Amino acid sequence: MLYSRLRPLLPRLMPLRMTSTEACTTMKVKQLNLLEETLAFEDPKAFRVKRFGELLRALGVFHLCSFPVLVNNCGKLMMISRTILGRRGFSMLLRPTVYAQFVAGENESEISQSMEKMNLLGLRPMLAVPIEEDLGESTGEKRYDDNMEAMLECVRMSHSNAWSKDPMMQLKITALLSPDLCVKLTTIITQQPYDLDLVVKAMDGEPVDFPGLDEREAAHFLCGLHRLNKIAEASVNKVRVLVDAEYTYMNPALSLVTMAMMKKFNKDGVWIWNTYQCYLKESRSLLLGALQISKEEGFCLGVKLVRGAYMDKERKLAEKESQLDPIHNCWEDTNVSYNGSLDVMLKAISQKPERYRIIVATHNEESVRKAAKRMEELGIDKDGGSVCFGQLLGMCDHVSLTLAKEGYAVYKSVPYGSVDDTLPYLVRRAQENRTVLQGIRKERDLLRKEFYRRMSLRGGK
Ligand SMILES: Cc1cc2nc3c(=O)[nH]c(=O)nc-3n(C[C@H](O)[C@H](O)[C@H](O)COP(=O)(O)OP(=O)(O)OC[C@H]3O[C@@H](n4cnc5c(N)ncnc54)[C@H](O)[C@@H]3O)c2cc1C
Repeated sequence: MLYSRLRPLLPRLMPLRMTSTEACTTMKVKQLNLLEETLAFEDPKAFRVKRFGELLRALGVFHLCSFPVLVNNCGKLMMISRTILGRRGFSMLLRPTVYAQFVAGENESEISQSMEKMNLLGLRPMLAVPIEEDLGESTGEKRYDDNMEAMLECVRMSHSNAWSKDPMMQLKITALLSPDLCVKLTTIITQQPYDLDLVVKAMDGEPVDFPGLDEREAAHFLCGLHRLNKIAEASVNKVRVLVDAEYTYMNPALSLVTMAMMKKFNKDGVWIWNTYQCYLKESRSLLLGALQISKEEGFCLGVKLVRGAYMDKERKLAEKESQLDPIHNCWEDTNVSYNGSLDVMLKAISQKPERYRIIVATHNEESVRKAAKRMEELGIDKDGGSVCFGQLLGMCDHVSLTLAKEGYAVYKSVPYGSVDDTLPYLVRRAQENRTVLQGIRKERDLLRKEFYRRMSLRGGK
């Protein structure tokens, strides 16, 4: 009936509809072209906000990072310098240079200064307590409790200071649960999948039997889960907690615990997030598995999408143990993997933005442009909260600043702590600069351009 009444109108409406669709398509193409231009990341103006000293420091640090001998041996070199110069002397050498480039400060007032500056530039801090532990480095329960206190302090700082809209922080599970236990759990999980509800029950303080663990291990697991539970309770509805991914020999255990936290705390919002490392051959199936579990179990899923930071060690280990290399064969394959997973998540977000969130944690310009383009195509709001971008403090500011200027939500991962506490992180940062391929080279070139521009201005005076 309605159709028959509309019928005479149709021939007149059709061309109108066609032209409006064509106009829409042309506009969209224009917008996408504009996006390509604005996100070219070629403009050294991004660095005009830096003081001259900061410019010089960044140039110096990136120059040092370009010497493979220095980078490959920086852990040893730092230890030797520390022995020769003593703790104070070493700190005086590192603080104004490498430390200042990659670390926000040691105490709340120092961190505050960095954060306020970041805020002015439109960037949001994502605090990280850089506690790094690996196999055989497991410490006692007291040390893990101290780490928990440090994380609770991180929740408080992230929440109580008005540094950022929608605050986020990073969390390393191995700072609260022994890496050795995570490895044991990983072995058990590969043989028989663990029930998420069992882990949730243990977090809630109910008595449970953990299959495959002896009494001492079970007691430590329980303590670790209580610590994680305490942090999650303190942060829910205040600070989003992004759990870091680490090595393949412990990641399944980390994911199990993170999924249990998601099940408990992500019923109505994305408060706990997991990290997916796209350099792993199995990363796509892990991500699809997580999407499936989140649907079945009815919780929201937060994803930190990264390429992965432990390539060299993973490869060496696989070779030593005559195992298949878990990492993609080349950088290009990792890129394909990253961009594909990004697309999977953006599609899911465009359908249910209230259930899924992603932080596109990369310095890779192509991935960033791809994300922005797909957001535009899928109609995802730049600052709607479900998609944001992340880079590390002191790295690829030209990417972060341009994105923030264009209205995207951009977080900088901000480690803090004393020189001694952040040393392992700094060593990894230097080594990673070697693998962050194009980003650093481009940043160095842009920094140089800005440096020469300022020198010529001084010369012209
Ligand atoms: C906010 C934030 C949080 C992070 N959290 C984590 C975390 O929880 N866990 C973690 O592991 N990492 C984490 N990272 C680091 C991240 O995984 C990368 O190491 C780093 O960002 C460099 O990758 P890219 O995409 O930025 O740069 P790109 O230069 O595009 O890529 C470099 C990366 O590509 C991969 N790659 C390089 N060469 C090859 C090769 N020959 N074959 C295969 N792959 C190769 C490596 O992963 C390398 O790090 C985080 C990064 C950010 C920005």
